[in-house]
Amino acid sequence: MGFHRYTLPHAAGVRVLDVAAIAGLLDRSPLIARLNREGTDPPSSLILRRLRDRNVQEYDLVVLGGGTGNIVASAAADEGLDVALVERGPLGGTCLNRGCNPSKKLIHRANVVETVRDAQSFGIDVSLDDVPFEQFVEEVNEMVTEAAETKTKRACDHENVTLYQTEGRFVDEHVVEIDQDDDAERIRSDHIVLAGGSRPLIPDAIEGTDEVEYLTSDDALTLNTRPERLVIVGGGYIAVELGHLYNQMGTDVTIVGHGDILVDREDREIAEQLTNAYRETHDLRLGYRATELREESEEKIVRAEPDDGDELRVRGDEVLLATGRRPNTDRWNVEAAGIETTDQEFVETNEYLETSVDGVWAIGDIAGNHMFKHSGDKEAEYVVEAVVHDRHKPVEYPGMAHAVFGSPQLASLGKTEGELGDDREYEVGTHEYDATALGSALAEGGLAKAIVGADDEVLGFHIVGPEASTLVHEVSTAVAAGADAEQIAETIHVHPALSEVVQGAFRDVRSVAPSGF
Ligand SMILES: Cc1cc2nc3c(=O)[nH]c(=O)nc-3n(C[C@H](O)[C@H](O)[C@H](O)COP(=O)(O)OP(=O)(O)OC[C@H]3O[C@@H](n4cnc5c(N)ncnc54)[C@H](O)[C@@H]3O)c2cc1C
Repeated sequence: MGFHRYTLPHAAGVRVLDVAAIAGLLDRSPLIARLNREGTDPPSSLILRRLRDRNVQEYDLVVLGGGTGNIVASAAADEGLDVALVERGPLGGTCLNRGCNPSKKLIHRANVVETVRDAQSFGIDVSLDDVPFEQFVEEVNEMVTEAAETKTKRACDHENVTLYQTEGRFVDEHVVEIDQDDDAERIRSDHIVLAGGSRPLIPDAIEGTDEVEYLTSDDALTLNTRPERLVIVGGGYIAVELGHLYNQMGTDVTIVGHGDILVDREDREIAEQLTNAYRETHDLRLGYRATELREESEEKIVRAEPDDGDELRVRGDEVLLATGRRPNTDRWNVEAAGIETTDQEFVETNEYLETSVDGVWAIGDIAGNHMFKHSGDKEAEYVVEAVVHDRHKPVEYPGMAHAVFGSPQLASLGKTEGELGDDREYEVGTHEYDATALGSALAEGGLAKAIVGADDEVLGFHIVGPEASTLVHEVSTAVAAGADAEQIAETIHVHPALSEVVQGAFRDVRSVAPSGF
């Protein structure tokens, strides 16, 4: 049976078959109609399936998701593999377009504003009449859009990459259906890397989210108008970072969180310091679970309940739901491929980042291992090794740390005291920023805390205060290089660099005073 092959001028390159049109032709064929009526093989459905199979575009590698997946796609294409990359939005994914990048660029501007405001405390007479919020948002979004467009151009220009800038979903173990205009086409590969990402989670337990407009972190980074009053539901790192951003822009920020402190998965002593600092700048309503979102006379109202006690009602011009993130497994229809998922719908992976389907790997947020950009990037390296070079190694995250870019900053590595519990012997050393020369000059407070095992192994390091996101790397590098706590304590640190705070915590474990009496 003959059929037409034709091409469309889209980025995907070749489109081989309009299956719907063929179906119409088949239905009108007297022979097929008779065979179908008689139940004689082959029925039209079988012919259609065969046609589909023959016309699926085959690649060496299919990469699903253009965030961290972009790293895999470009590395594999550079090595000569014929790669298909499927991404419905701009390349760069969450991090570049609506996560790490725009948030930190905006937060840097908030930090500058904060420094100007705090200059008064050093006796510098300054006044701040206006913070150009809309201008900040516009220039930051222009920057990230330009970076995403550059990535797109590079992908399109690469001779080994076919970029499908559209929605895709699994239809079989190794076959992905791609939306094209009003139609769909299929691509397949023995090797698929699913870097499908996550999106804001809106809890079912909050009523009214279908009727009342609310913001997610995606919107909060692109708002044209700054709200006078913002209610943030959630007490995790996104709430803390965006709370700081809006607070410095001049918005009255109320945070409704269900933990009794902010960032309650962090080491308690460190998270308490951050929470205390936020109490001075934000209206904190902690220990409340949001139950309803309402709108009355253009005011948004969040209703929340404590474990016991009186219900809370908080009013604002906008409400930001920073209530966690969920994996995009449903959007990629991983069920159709038979890929196993966890109770929370993350893709199950083994230590090689392999899913339950042979030849399909999962990395980044969708695999839910750490849900940070830097851990996803590390996973991408392992998968490139496996797919491109057939070198399979169990994934390791040497010196894995993370940071929260609030005010103050917080950073952490390894176990918290809460996680260690009574299971393991350990010692704790702490050091106040104010106990160091530069830390006290900054006059912002802060604390470093080292948790060390009996054999001098660094079990955890937690820090809250200026430059915490950078200071954590001393410990991170030491741990990755196999150094122990004593080596950090004994390494000569530049005086009076801020890293003396880190050294101080490790010297405290050994009860060595940093500077005599
Ligand atoms: C506000 C905010 C701030 C953050 N700050 C930091 C930070 O400071 N440091 C840090 O390490 N991490 C941070 N993160 C987390 C970080 O952004 C993510 O961990 C990381 O971007 C995840 O990368 P990924 O490749 O797994 O997913 P993504 O980058 O989300 O990539 C998945 C891609 O798949 C696409 N997609 C989904 N479904 C389909 C479909 N059916 N068809 C086609 N395409 C589809 C999406 O458009 C997306 O681009 C932040 C996140 C947010 C929201």
